[in-house]
Amino acid sequence: MSSPVKYVYAFSAALTEGEAAMKNLLGGKGANLAEMCRLGITVPPGFTISTEACTEFTDKGQAHVFELIRDEVAQGVARVEGEMGKRFGDPADPLLLSVRSGARASMPGMMDTILNLGLNDEAVVGLARKANNERFAWDSYRRFIQMYGDVVMGLKPVSKEEHDPFEVIIDMVKEKRGVKLDTDLGTDDLKELVQRFKSLIRARIGRDFPTDPWEQLWGAVFAVFESWNNDRAKVYRELNDIPQSWGTAVNVQAMVFGNLGDSSATGVAFSRDAGTGEDLFNGEFLINAQGEDVVAGVRTPQQISRLGSQRWAQLALVNEEERRSQFPSLEELMPDIYQQLLKAETLLENHFRDMQDMEFTIQEGKLWMLQTRNGKRTGAAMVRIAVEMLKQGMIDEKTALLRVAPERLNELLHPVFDTHAVKAAKVIARGLPASPGAATGQIVFFADEAEEWVKQGKVVILVRLETSPEDLRGMSVAQGILTARGGMTSHAAVVARGMGKCCISGAGAVHVDYKARTMTIGDTVYQEGDWLSLDGSTGEVFEGRIPTVEAGLSGDFGALMALTDKYKRLHVRANADTPDDAKVARNFGATGIGLCRTEHMFFAGDRILAVREMILANDEAGRRKALAKLLPMQRGDFEGMFREMNGLPVTIRLLDPPLHEFIPHDEAGQRTMANEMGVPLGKIKMRVEELHEFNPMMGHRGCRLGISYPEITEMQARAVIEAALNMKARGFEVKAEIMVPLVGTVREFDAQAKVIRQTAAAVFAERGEQLEYLLGTMIETPRAAVIADSIARQAEFFSFGTNDLTQMTLGFSRDDAGKFLPDYLRKGIYEHDPFRSIDQKGVGALVEMAVRKGQQARPGIETGVCGEHGGDPASVEFFHGAGLDYVSCSPFRVPIARLAAAQAAIRE
Ligand code: ADP
Ligand code: MG
Ligand code: MG
Repeated sequence: MSSPVKYVYAFSAALTEGEAAMKNLLGGKGANLAEMCRLGITVPPGFTISTEACTEFTDKGQAHVFELIRDEVAQGVARVEGEMGKRFGDPADPLLLSVRSGARASMPGMMDTILNLGLNDEAVVGLARKANNERFAWDSYRRFIQMYGDVVMGLKPVSKEEHDPFEVIIDMVKEKRGVKLDTDLGTDDLKELVQRFKSLIRARIGRDFPTDPWEQLWGAVFAVFESWNNDRAKVYRELNDIPQSWGTAVNVQAMVFGNLGDSSATGVAFSRDAGTGEDLFNGEFLINAQGEDVVAGVRTPQQISRLGSQRWAQLALVNEEERRSQFPSLEELMPDIYQQLLKAETLLENHFRDMQDMEFTIQEGKLWMLQTRNGKRTGAAMVRIAVEMLKQGMIDEKTALLRVAPERLNELLHPVFDTHAVKAAKVIARGLPASPGAATGQIVFFADEAEEWVKQGKVVILVRLETSPEDLRGMSVAQGILTARGGMTSHAAVVARGMGKCCISGAGAVHVDYKARTMTIGDTVYQEGDWLSLDGSTGEVFEGRIPTVEAGLSGDFGALMALTDKYKRLHVRANADTPDDAKVARNFGATGIGLCRTEHMFFAGDRILAVREMILANDEAGRRKALAKLLPMQRGDFEGMFREMNGLPVTIRLLDPPLHEFIPHDEAGQRTMANEMGVPLGKIKMRVEELHEFNPMMGHRGCRLGISYPEITEMQARAVIEAALNMKARGFEVKAEIMVPLVGTVREFDAQAKVIRQTAAAVFAERGEQLEYLLGTMIETPRAAVIADSIARQAEFFSFGTNDLTQMTLGFSRDDAGKFLPDYLRKGIYEHDPFRSIDQKGVGALVEMAVRKGQQARPGIETGVCGEHGGDPASVEFFHGAGLDYVSCSPFRVPIARLAAAQAAIRE
């Protein structure tokens, strides 16, 4: 009786029913096995049981599926028997099978492959006789029992020490024999292993190892289906957004043997270098081996190509003679096979138009391909392969752009360690990989000393328990930052990411003693001035100095970035507070500054004194006096910004944070401040008391400061306009945009706008010249989004401050969310961190609405985003759809945002 639905699809030289396009039904492995057969590549014959059978298994159980697919599976086996000229279960000359799982998306945590299925005590004798190789037969048998015992019968380690119960036995036998490698075991040893394995299974599971091949086969098939629903697989799917309903396919395939002696081998190959992207056929193989021996690291694998082999020898310090005699490449050892493999590789890469990761086995001088898929690769390799395939005419521009995952560009944007030097370095501690990049420098413990040392021409690593806003300058001159405390969103982590600076946070093993100026890890004490290296991408802390290599937009990376401009609609600006940051941003292709946080310059040099004087002032006159000191400094900063961004817009935000952020909170700091300013400590303490807020993020900040103290707004507006006129006079093209933060009502904006416009008019009158500038607002309170039309009648641009907008819309304090957000994410209440990727349904809807209302009230109004979301690829895609003009992100995320913007436009 044949069922109306087809569940089994053949693949072989004679009959292939599937193809690459059928990944949903056949899984990635099965679909590509079929495609290889269609391309005329030699593949052991077999069949794929579809993912739909797995779904039936999950829904209706094993007995039901057995009825559904029994006949088709029997037919499939019969076809393979015909093609291989052997019978399944024939004790004299058994057909052996592999059973391989394969879902749509590659999924660790699913069932492992079972090889040599069909062996039992009789068949192993037949196999030995037929192959005229007793050792091979018993090696295959012991491997089969090992794999089947583990994945189908569920024999797991009973303790941590045991690791793998079968390996424990193998080690015992090896020790008894006095040999090191599995390959050194003789036939009798292997026979002993088989006996011991079977006894172990009987003892632990309470059942005998199944001797009937059909029972073995069905056991394996159902185990694959079961494994789709094991906890590990479920968790993996949750984490990777893979629907639970997909199911996995099962591939049943004739075995070929790489363990038949010295003319047999098994290996993996890549059509291009997965690390660098170089167009070099490469890979590894092992003689007389089976399955994943090659990646298991038991023996040293040999390289596929001669060039690859020579490069390997250099790294492994193997001389040419030793290489050629002991580790020859496949190209040298089996030139014919190598040529066949090269042909298959070329055919597959041209066919799939992407880098291929392939598995193969050589049985007594004959090559069999076992798998091909688009290979995983580093960020650098993604870029190089995409650009080179474009040049080679293999793919078009859009495909090239889509081939690179924006986030992975991170790997190309920061300095990296010299690959050779880092191999020899010693890891002394680990922390959170808070901000990527590599850094090397001398240890300093204090931010001001970091500045001192750097002035003296040294390179430093700032090591702190944790950092605070007062450390900003020191952080910005350090090569990297290491903190003993704090998480991924600690001050150090967030600021470092913004600066594009390497940072490791929360390295708990690091004990910092500020008094002694030492850092202790275990028993080792490191002094100020000792050399230290950090890998912010892995969280590894190294002892000593490791040379680094700088990143830049050159070569293939530059070519890819240039291509983004051809397709993207969104402009990409940068959040930059200093001319240096602006320069970096411009080099990375930013077409403007979307957010210049004026207060970030307040800590520099003597400015903080003037700022504090203003804060301590008793009245407007006192404040004006202090502001007059700040004016030239701010003007100078803005001139620098306009110079770097010549011809491009620069959006300057008025003072935003609450004033208490500028006064030290600890007694020692306050004392120093009192001495420096010549005011009594009591006065400072009193002011700190007055400025104290229960919820500073909703306190006296943003335009509320300007409402209370219009003279601050006046000074800042004057600094911007004067700087603009000065730079214009020097021949620069200045596009200034003044931005009022945290507006919630039209009147707030009006009040601030009035001060700014009057100040500008006054400066124009004094100078006798005019200049165009834009006056706009941030939209970062939900109320502002709701009344965006009214605001747009007054404001010339909107910039969505999505950090605050998220905080206020969700009612989550960004500084406290770390306490509960992980629970929310684990329980799936939020799918992702709303501070990292925009909450599209809530916050995103407010953005969409405000843009729409803004456009209605003021057609052509300029709209942008300047929150952290501006550098998040998924958010960028959303903002593209919402019709914004630009996103603005930290300088080091500019290339990521550019690529994400291009991809959004292409996918549209
Ligand atoms: P994975 O999904 O982990 O890559 P595979 O199903 O590809 O698992 O199997 C792992 C390895 O087992 C393959 O690389 C290959 O070496 C070996 N293998 C699988 N099927 C066969 C077969 N029919 N003949 C010989 N070796 C096989
Ligand atoms: Mg594989
Ligand atoms: Mg804000």
